[in-house]
Amino acid sequence: MRIGLHVSIAGGLARACARARALRCETIQLFTRSPRGWQAPPLDPEGAAAFRSGTGAAGIAPVFVHAPYLVNLAAADRGLAARSRRMLVEELDRAGAIGALGVVVHPGRSPDRAQGLARVTREVSRVIRHSRAGTLLLLENTAGARTDIGSRFEELAAVIAGVPNRDRLGVTLDTAHLFAAGYEVHTRAGLDATLRDFDATVGLGRLHLLHLNDSRFPLASGRDRHWHIGRGEIGLDGFRAVVNHPLLRHLPGILETPRAAATDDRRNLAALRRLRA
Ligand SMILES: [Zn+2]
Ligand SMILES: [Zn+2]
Repeated sequence: MRIGLHVSIAGGLARACARARALRCETIQLFTRSPRGWQAPPLDPEGAAAFRSGTGAAGIAPVFVHAPYLVNLAAADRGLAARSRRMLVEELDRAGAIGALGVVVHPGRSPDRAQGLARVTREVSRVIRHSRAGTLLLLENTAGARTDIGSRFEELAAVIAGVPNRDRLGVTLDTAHLFAAGYEVHTRAGLDATLRDFDATVGLGRLHLLHLNDSRFPLASGRDRHWHIGRGEIGLDGFRAVVNHPLLRHLPGILETPRAAATDDRRNLAALRRLRA
């Protein structure tokens, strides 16, 4: 498994690339803008080209973009849904410009699951239709908080089945979210069962990326709290099974673990590298 992490873009794309190289990342994920605002300056074409050649020269691939947290494709509010759709189309284009393989997005939040799911399906179809870039749109499984759409594989499968042009539609699985949603990925038997379930509903061919995060809270807690590798409820044995699993080891794995101390990223990356057989 190629291992990397979500790198900060503070100081620009060139700084992000330098950080990834310093940490010896084999793959990375980043925001192309502040994740908490609707407006972003256009990407500077020279900066984007330099980022592409910098990551290419360092062998950092694939690159992924994470969509801003404001995006909610399940929103009942038409204005919010439209802003979310436009921003996601923009992110697919920006991701294409920096040479990224795909854009990761959480399906959305809605108090009404059935209506929320229908809105996500409709908005995802529109986003794919409106985007000219060849970038993948990757739906991420969620932790299963009450309003989260997409914590069950059946929901992700329902969205995909409802999108006519689904060639560019894929999935990201986050280990902490799986565990919080009740999937027993902390044991080998549980991981095998989870992957069989995923293959039967979504299909393993749609899986392009793993988010490798330990979980602060117990199985089926519904709480999304990422924790340091080996120090949470999934544990080192759980991650050893994930990074070496025959159905997963060809995939890129991205850490989104807490960054409280300067050494946290290095330590979490090293922990995962040591587990690779
Ligand atoms: Zn994630
Ligand atoms: Zn999370």
